[in-house]
Amino acid sequence: MGFKFTKKLCFKRIIKRVLWNFLALFSLLVFADKSIVAQDDFVDIRTRIPSIVIDMRYASTNNFTGKKIYDTAACFLRANVADRLARVQKRLSKKGYGLKIWDAYRPKSAQKILWKATPKKLRRYVANPKKGSKHSRGAAVDITLVDSLGNECTMPTGFDDFSIKARTHNMNHSKEAIMHREILHQAMNREGFLSIRGEWWHFNDPDWRSYPLSDIPLSQLAAQNN
Ligand SMILES: [Zn+2]
Repeated sequence: MGFKFTKKLCFKRIIKRVLWNFLALFSLLVFADKSIVAQDDFVDIRTRIPSIVIDMRYASTNNFTGKKIYDTAACFLRANVADRLARVQKRLSKKGYGLKIWDAYRPKSAQKILWKATPKKLRRYVANPKKGSKHSRGAAVDITLVDSLGNECTMPTGFDDFSIKARTHNMNHSKEAIMHREILHQAMNREGFLSIRGEWWHFNDPDWRSYPLSDIPLSQLAAQNN
């Protein structure tokens, strides 16, 4: 009986130790993750590209969900991504065009809200928050072309058109729309941005893998920059 009791006590002690070690390791990981996040180099796009037109569609109800997803209309990207975009803007301005941005950094929790607000039949077009979006890495942009006065150019579709018409290589559009899409894609691709097949307005930074998913709220980033 006494032996069994000691054995039991010993076992309990081991379990306790394992649990403590696990807890210590867990908090270390959480802490380490936070320190990475704190070092994130997000920049306000306006500071890098003063001439860019910004219309953060998820900060208003003017998006496919009809709901306001973001807490503020702040527009942030990783510094290197913003600098790359600045080179695109420079390239386009020589031709009498410019960029209008519809979406940039999207915090992880906003991705969750967007996912929940998306009707089930459209969810295949939105990144599952479990996997995360490249927007949440601050390394993707949704963007369109404007003229020298900042007016939107005719493009194949509007933002978040989930039909076949939004496909990057769809040629079933007016000459004007195809030409504008070509101008946008050439300028973006020449600076290294990667296009995707299904959405002509979405581009990934080629180094997106080097940026972790982030959940810093847009309002916090905006407050830090003011
Ligand atoms: Zn996008």
